[in-house]
Amino acid sequence: MLKFDIEKKSGLARAGVIHTPHGDIKTPAFVGAATRATVKALTMKEMRELGSQAILANTYHLLLAPGTDLIKEAGGLAEFSSWHGPTFTDSGGFQIFSLPDVKITENGAKFKSHINGDKFEMTPESSMQAQWAIGADIHMAFDQLAKSENKDDMRRAMERTHRWLDRCVEEHLRLAECVRNTTSEDHRLGRTASSVSEEVVFEHPQYLYAVVQGGTFLDLRAESAKYSASKDVDGFGIGGVFVADGMAEMLQTVCPILPEDKPRHLLGMGQEPIDLFIGAENGCDTFDCVAPTRMARNGSLYTLDGRINIKNAKYKNDFTPLMPECDCECCKNYTRAYLHHLFKTDEITAKVLASIHNEHFVVSTVDKIRESIIHDTFDEYKNEFLSRYYK
Ligand SMILES: [Zn+2]
Repeated sequence: MLKFDIEKKSGLARAGVIHTPHGDIKTPAFVGAATRATVKALTMKEMRELGSQAILANTYHLLLAPGTDLIKEAGGLAEFSSWHGPTFTDSGGFQIFSLPDVKITENGAKFKSHINGDKFEMTPESSMQAQWAIGADIHMAFDQLAKSENKDDMRRAMERTHRWLDRCVEEHLRLAECVRNTTSEDHRLGRTASSVSEEVVFEHPQYLYAVVQGGTFLDLRAESAKYSASKDVDGFGIGGVFVADGMAEMLQTVCPILPEDKPRHLLGMGQEPIDLFIGAENGCDTFDCVAPTRMARNGSLYTLDGRINIKNAKYKNDFTPLMPECDCECCKNYTRAYLHHLFKTDEITAKVLASIHNEHFVVSTVDKIRESIIHDTFDEYKNEFLSRYYK
């Protein structure tokens, strides 16, 4: 089982430590979105320096390019990307079910590569095999995403997600058994035990999170949480949340049902700082979101007084730091006028500096949420932050 220690609780919120084979994650924590085994515009050195503790890659994207076999050959995601810290993979379900011509059957999902049209089928088993080949510390179960407002559609997707979870758990345990049956000598020689297929090469254990679905329907969310909690998994992803509206009620329904001693990851949330506060306050331990770096590349930058567009003419002669209170490389060394100039002239460095700042902003905000939980000052910190940010 994945080891997770809770240091401090305050209502549903908790501060803890997830102990992964590639190091500890102090939670709550914001996990960097490294969809294609890279965080866009940032090197892994920059990610470490800005305070990131973990990254999340996407199985769908890595399956298409460069292929999961190549990542296995490279020694796994951590080796391949030179991120020698904790890693997650998303199952690819979210991306596959967002494709225009996906065909869903009980067995899995058939789809075409958005890159070259090659045909793929992903099943719960093949998603597990792909994630074990990528070799991240924490995997997500393959789930059927549903965006429908129709409750019957949502129930059908949820029930299929539960049947797929059973298959994911079975395949995950089979692959874990393969690792246990393979000796260090086998690993050293690149050999797998006789009963072991070619699939497994990594010596380090890998862990599985179930994904709780149910959309905006609280009774379905409760049902999905109960089902997921009854399974032999190491933690929980909470999926299918697209907007903060109703998120608090949903988490207040789901989190008390989930076992307290296992970590919870809020999938794809954290674009708006308020999401991070709502998530942590209601029992989520980790978050990921592509939005902070995506917005950075467009010149939309966080400050404690809200988000600004640095391309705006009023920053042309502004020789102050982007955010004086920030200790990131961008804010310590450059002015708003310089950033404005880089964006207006479409310099690559604009995207780099902006991404360093936005990623640091969300990572350090969640770090401060953690500190405030430990010191019993969460409500004060939340009120102070949100009243200024959303003034
Ligand atoms: Zn900064």
